[in-house]
Amino acid sequence: MNQPRQPAKKRRNQQHLRFLTSAVDMQGCPQDSSPEVAIVGRSNAGKSTLINGIASSRIAKVSGTPGKTRLLNFFQGPNYRLVDMPGYGFSARSGSEQSSWQGMIEPYLATRGNLVGLLIVMDVRRDWSQDEEDLLEWLTPRGVPSAVVLTKADKLSRSEIVKHINLIKQQSGLEAVLATSSLKRTGFIELEDFIFETWVKPTQTGGET
Ligand code: GDP
Repeated sequence: MNQPRQPAKKRRNQQHLRFLTSAVDMQGCPQDSSPEVAIVGRSNAGKSTLINGIASSRIAKVSGTPGKTRLLNFFQGPNYRLVDMPGYGFSARSGSEQSSWQGMIEPYLATRGNLVGLLIVMDVRRDWSQDEEDLLEWLTPRGVPSAVVLTKADKLSRSEIVKHINLIKQQSGLEAVLATSSLKRTGFIELEDFIFETWVKPTQTGGET
């Protein structure tokens, strides 16, 4: 009885994001020095829901909205931007998906000076596949720091999640593999802290004014 309530963990690196702009090519990207964290994931991975969770508002559309994946969408926060990218599928890409990768995504990932990290979003129930393998193979020589976010963590038990995180770490060779649930609102503090501490903060202490 009368147990003291645990103070809620503070989302000290929470970003209040707002939609800034969309771009179809490199010329359309914002021309400033704000750090950018890009987000890729196949359709239905939970990417829009994740962006909304980080933003704490419904700024990205969820599920089944045609045309939403045609562009790079930029969402601005106080410390950095999130950049929502079209779905990927390197080994199986075809038609318009292939041309958007070649026309826009590849140049963005290969040349964008603002880019500080890439989140690869996957449904927690999916395995690391050839598509993710191909993506990493392409990213690694280009020096893009990457992390995996496993969404829909509410679909598995805690122990299954730990097991899956370890498996994905092993398969990807990436150290940063995090799990989130938008339903249960878990994992966001850890993800926001990771993004800020690992990718954004170093750019701020690097002498930029
Ligand atoms: P996107 O295509 O990658 O942008 O995926 P969406 O964000 O549109 O999500 C696809 C579906 O997964 C939607 O029906 C979401 O409601 C659902 N979803 C996303 N995140 C979660 C989550 O953390 N838990 C559960 N249970 N469902 C989720």
